Amino acid sequence: MKVELHCHTSRFSLCAVNTPDEMLARLVEEKYDAVFLTEHDALWSPQDIAFMQKRHPKIKIFPGLELTHHHDEGEGISHILILGTTDASFLFITDPEAIIAHAKKSDCLTIVAHPYRWTGADEFLKSSTLPDAMEGLTPNHSPRNAVLAHQAGKQLSLPIVNTSDAHAAKFIGRYWIETNIDFETPQQLREIIVAREYKNRVMAKKQPLLNE
Ligand SMILES: [Zn+2]
Ligand SMILES: [Zn+2]
Repeated sequence: MKVELHCHTSRFSLCAVNTPDEMLARLVEEKYDAVFLTEHDALWSPQDIAFMQKRHPKIKIFPGLELTHHHDEGEGISHILILGTTDASFLFITDPEAIIAHAKKSDCLTIVAHPYRWTGADEFLKSSTLPDAMEGLTPNHSPRNAVLAHQAGKQLSLPIVNTSDAHAAKFIGRYWIETNIDFETPQQLREIIVAREYKNRVMAKKQPLLNE
């Protein structure tokens, strides 16, 4: 299965360019089998996910969230992906450890988004309760940052995943994960990632990554 773990749409993410229908059409065109819609600090309802699933039957659509955590008196920002959730209570938890603990209790996969995009290692990597995984290559996380993520992944025993972190349809299909295991639920996907039963993929043809 070809899987997108990190995808924004203009419906809930202000910085995203394309509508949910446009993003899903592109994912199907690129032969993805599953996607998690992970908006910035906003949640899809189960009803809206079901509605989109009917419109795009060729791809499995799951909910998710990219939660912003502010730290160092507003100076620092960290992002964490919480996959499979429709639980709005995440928006009101401010402590990194409590966010990760709540996700684990709900059996939701947690991925530190672009851990080296901003200064130093991400705040979530300093938590005493570690997340399940962290991002490697994305259009928002350069190859250099991905190397740092792989090094930290070794030290902390965390799996690394490639994603599109797609804010526009054109970013889809560059970096993704693939698994031979057919999954039906976000909980099964979590097991796959934790057991490292997947491969990171990169598109064969080299293209400029940013500011096209
Ligand atoms: Zn982010
Ligand atoms: Zn994102």
